[in-house]
Amino acid sequence: MRWFDSHVHADHLRTEAERRAMIEAACVAGVFRMVTVGGCVESNRAALEMAAQWPAHVRAAVGWDRQHTGQNPEEVARLCESNGDVVVAVGEIGLDFHYDPGTAREQRELFDAMLALARQRSLPVIVHSRGAETATLEHLRSHVQHWPGARDRVGVLHCFTGSKEFAHALIELGFYISFSGILTFTNARELRDVAKSVPLERTLIETDTPWLSPAPYRGCLNEPARVVLVAQALAEIHGVALGELARLTWTNANDLFGWPES
Ligand SMILES: [Zn+2]
Repeated sequence: MRWFDSHVHADHLRTEAERRAMIEAACVAGVFRMVTVGGCVESNRAALEMAAQWPAHVRAAVGWDRQHTGQNPEEVARLCESNGDVVVAVGEIGLDFHYDPGTAREQRELFDAMLALARQRSLPVIVHSRGAETATLEHLRSHVQHWPGARDRVGVLHCFTGSKEFAHALIELGFYISFSGILTFTNARELRDVAKSVPLERTLIETDTPWLSPAPYRGCLNEPARVVLVAQALAEIHGVALGELARLTWTNANDLFGWPES
């Protein structure tokens, strides 16, 4: 079985040895591909370095995430331009009115600038949304109207924790829904119910490393190898064989990020 972790932060890894250990542990677990995500200066840099060093296993996303509203969007355009061979998405970007309600207006401006950049470069987006379902849909609806790429490969809503209605509105817009280790938490019954309603053809899996380690490692530093635990939970929810889930999520992620399968 081959697994694809669609969302990994790498800026917490301080040394090359730590990065290498993460990749090696992932491969041992069958997690042969991952997207390392940006969002700030350090994570953009780490994502690009990982992809340059392990091109067989890693591609990168770059962007300014919602806390970095003072940053210049042009800088991300420049990163895309000079790393075109490894940048497969703009992200992570988005809106969080749960943790940062005070900067809603600035977040929305930055989100729009990042979406415009994604359209310019025909790159899918990796979107964070918390406490901002209505606003997120508003921005993404107008993004999709001008999106020059394939209709069903607009992007992914990462670490999904929202409502069933939100998930299905996103799917209609051409988004994938990505589920994390939260699926394995005992108190996540509602989310498992939402996951069951999302067709596996539109589902991705992720660890959100180093956050959200799945049970029984809850609270520990997460790593891509543990995406298999997310997959096991999802296979159980859908009542499908693990091999079938591997095949679908592998294909979905490669399709979205335009990464040839062989
Ligand atoms: Zn993330």
